[in-house]
Amino acid sequence: MSKYKNIVILTGAGISAESGLATFRDEEGLWNKHKVEDVATIEGFARNPDYVHDFYNEMKKELIDVKPNKAHLAITELQKNYPADISVITQNVDTLHEKAGNENVYHIHGQINQAVCMNCGNVIATWDDVTTEDICQNCGVLGMFKPNIVFFGESLLCMNKVDELLRKCDLFISIGTSGVVFPANTFVRTAKYHHAETIEFNLKSTANNYDFDKHIIGKAGETFPQYVKDLISCE
Ligand code: NAD
Ligand code: ZN
Repeated sequence: MSKYKNIVILTGAGISAESGLATFRDEEGLWNKHKVEDVATIEGFARNPDYVHDFYNEMKKELIDVKPNKAHLAITELQKNYPADISVITQNVDTLHEKAGNENVYHIHGQINQAVCMNCGNVIATWDDVTTEDICQNCGVLGMFKPNIVFFGESLLCMNKVDELLRKCDLFISIGTSGVVFPANTFVRTAKYHHAETIEFNLKSTANNYDFDKHIIGKAGETFPQYVKDLISCE
């Protein structure tokens, strides 16, 4: 009998930092070079869809060849070698979890290699540029694709599933998220309320400090693989 039956791993920009991606609040972060209201709101997109498509097409080019790091790979190890249902809820729009072979990944903020037709809801996956010239193969309407990235003011994706997972989990692990972005910063409380053990991996203690039973401070690419090794060897 394994100690945990249902494990949820929440990840944020910090898990991808060691793959060379800037985190949100980094001075070098992509977001700091553009106004959020221009590139990450529905109003900005309505005002200038070409500008917004250019921004995400550019981001896509930056992300296409980025490799997962040891923390992403350790999740695959855990999923393969620990007898529990293990899901990943990520705020990241990169696809490093998939590249690492992680399964049961839920992208609550969307993902960079997808676009959604605002006319019919058709979601397409592509690493090519998406533009206002594209026609939806499902409904035949021109110029209605939006990057499948959740903009400010939009609902998050997969939230029914996320809620179900949080209520059921007996171990909640958070990796590399600052705990300031709503609603992901409330997930730990839901899990805890339903009696999960809670553990955080971060470079420093975060805004959610008091919600975690345990804090493991350091680079996730170093601390998390060790934790996974210990967890598997306890079985
Ligand atoms: P954040 O940038 O607000 O916080 C990142 C956290 O990771 C910080 O607490 C930092 O201390 C920690 N961290 C940095 N390097 C680390 C490492 N090597 N090991 C462990 N922890 C480390 O990120 P957030 O909480 O995810 O919120 C930012 C928002 O920006 C999210 O909504 C996300 O969608 C978006 N974003 C995504 C990406 C991506 O897809 N890779 C990158 C930047 C921003
Ligand atoms: Zn369509």
